[in-house]
Amino acid sequence: MTRAFNFSAGPATLPESVLRQAQAEMLEWNGVGASIVEISHRSADFMAVAAQAEADLRTLVGIPDDYAVLFLAGGATTQQALLPLNLAAPGQRVDYVVSGHWGKTAVKQAQPYVEVNIAADGEAGGFRDIPARAQWQLSDDAAYVHITANETIHGVEFREVPDVGAVPLVADFSSSIASEPIDVSRYGVIYAGAQKNLGPVGIVVVIVRRDLLERAGQPRADIFDYRSHAARDSMLNTPPTWNWYLLGLTVQWMLAQGGTAEFARRNAAKASLVYAAIDGSGGFYRNEVAPGVRSRMNIPFFLPSAELDARFVADAKAAGLIALKGHKAVGGIRASLYNAMPLEGAQALAAFMHDFQQRNG
Ligand SMILES: *Cc1c(COP(=O)(O)O)cnc(C)c1O
Repeated sequence: MTRAFNFSAGPATLPESVLRQAQAEMLEWNGVGASIVEISHRSADFMAVAAQAEADLRTLVGIPDDYAVLFLAGGATTQQALLPLNLAAPGQRVDYVVSGHWGKTAVKQAQPYVEVNIAADGEAGGFRDIPARAQWQLSDDAAYVHITANETIHGVEFREVPDVGAVPLVADFSSSIASEPIDVSRYGVIYAGAQKNLGPVGIVVVIVRRDLLERAGQPRADIFDYRSHAARDSMLNTPPTWNWYLLGLTVQWMLAQGGTAEFARRNAAKASLVYAAIDGSGGFYRNEVAPGVRSRMNIPFFLPSAELDARFVADAKAAGLIALKGHKAVGGIRASLYNAMPLEGAQALAAFMHDFQQRNG
């Protein structure tokens, strides 16, 4: 068996120890005579796994008691539709800051339900920078302000929490949750699909300040209602049990590794290796993002031609560095360096970049 260094943007690499544990427990788990995917979500055995995953995530991310944590299906995109349904009254405005592809998606999912004000939009600049806070055109009466903490495709990341006054800040943290310490109390809602930094695809975490659950929102079915999910501990219907279990194992692994402070250190080290390889290449490799908002998680870059991009991806794969092809919206190369990517992976990539340039530059 050979496991490559996997730079996929998502679903993404998971810690080997987590996969091994899941493998060992696949046929028979915890003395119950069946695997965890074959038992009731309402069994005491599974409920204990679910509760532990929540407790561990609260510890890892530093989630205060006045925030509920929901574990839902449907991915981050579904939450982008549920947010306006739950948080905004009919006809109420919502403010969106668009700093890349996922900010655009968030707008698209909200538009059928609410009056979306694009408070700032980085598209004219090719999403190479985040519009400065001073330029945002916020509404007086917005239900919330939505940002994308890290844009997974364009590789731009907020490096500080923007001040939006008393209006709740809603943030898509799908590709950067638990990558560094954050102050949850600065946000009204944080949501994150698990498949980048928290575990497997198929489950999404919604961290919501409890007072926001009291908002009337808009007419909606129970299954789209955050308050109903919170009241039933995310077991309004059958939750994605296998994904919840794997998420729990991944969170435990992160705690055992030293938590978010340790990952902040590792992620900064990994990202600076790759950015140094780009910036030290004399223009052979190009990352076009403004230095102050360069993502630590997803690093898009380009070679001098599309042909070289393709050769780079193929040669890297042969060298055991996989999934480096850029997203089709941007092209080029993209290296994703989530928590489960070891420092050795970033070192191997930087060395490969140097070597590839020697041979092709
Ligand atoms: C991957 C991603 C999404 C979409 O997640 P789905 O689970 O596919 O719905 C949304 N936002 C960000 C920032 C992402 O990285």
